[in-house]
Amino acid sequence: MIFENVLIVDPVYGEFCGDVEVEDGIITKVKKKECIEPKNILLPGFVDTHSHGYSGIDCMNATAKEFENWANFVAKDGVTYLFPTTVSGTKEELERVLKEFLKAKHPALSFLHFEGPFINKEKAGAQNKEKITSFSKEKLPDLNNKVKIITAAPEINGFEKLLEFSKENNLIISLGHSNGTFEDFKKAYEKGVRRITHFPNALREFHHREIGGIGAAFSLDFYVELIVDNIHLSPDFVKLVYKLIGPERIILITDSISATNLKDGIYNLGGILVKVKDGIARTEEGSLAGSTLKFIEAVKNFRKITKCSLKELAMVSSYNAFKSVEMNPPRIKEGYPAKLVLLDDELNIKKVIVDTPN
Ligand code: FE
Repeated sequence: MIFENVLIVDPVYGEFCGDVEVEDGIITKVKKKECIEPKNILLPGFVDTHSHGYSGIDCMNATAKEFENWANFVAKDGVTYLFPTTVSGTKEELERVLKEFLKAKHPALSFLHFEGPFINKEKAGAQNKEKITSFSKEKLPDLNNKVKIITAAPEINGFEKLLEFSKENNLIISLGHSNGTFEDFKKAYEKGVRRITHFPNALREFHHREIGGIGAAFSLDFYVELIVDNIHLSPDFVKLVYKLIGPERIILITDSISATNLKDGIYNLGGILVKVKDGIARTEEGSLAGSTLKFIEAVKNFRKITKCSLKELAMVSSYNAFKSVEMNPPRIKEGYPAKLVLLDDELNIKKVIVDTPN
């Protein structure tokens, strides 16, 4: 397959015109040339490190087949690397998710993200408080090298042990659902933690005498996941993050739930009932409960709000996500997996290639 006369957007080399050849799922040739008004833009496939469900599928009770269907759905939104995300669950519940995920076969299925259960009940958001707990490794099933991210609050009992466990098991800790102080975040940072989950949703509010996790993100070099749906964050906040944290550290995510791609109604988010009205998902108490955002919409929203360059768009939609989990990031470069998204100049999806096995 060949993409001719496209505007190639590589997160390192930037934007240039040319042809890209793909063979057996690998980029075999990237040829720079003078193009006359390239109509289409080629970006690395998107990475969604935080998604609970899609189109009636919920991570906590998905079958292997549903994981595969889910990956097919999101591929239409440009996602070529999906990290299905749990909510807080018991060992048995998480074990069941892992068992089904292990059976699922789809080139876009990357790793699982466990959001909880080692988080702070005070910042549970839409998570079931009864399942939230302190850390001990006995509370986790055998991870089989299939879990990459665990979202945890730095102030919970056992957090130090969780950090040790994460190093032994090739896991990345992402700080979130936390009422932690700046000191808690700084301590975690000093021990190598570099990631914050759906910033600044479910964090302690910013106070000028206790700047908390929000202050930590603005003053230390954390990567931050952002839900850019214009609901979880105001466009002004997104602009602020773009200005102060910058496109090198922003990771777009969807935090999508099973209601995504479906009509308004009542849905299940890992056992919690969620009401979706006008596309906004809330629990009975009124907490936001994930989103119904599609990844391509997040990409469009981010570009519209920040007026960022296409290179920066490639960084926030794939490159930074992999950097934040210490994996080799997607590029448009010879020898790299051919997981690609072709867009028109209004960022509408024209084609997605996802078939390279992980
Ligand atoms: Fe969350």
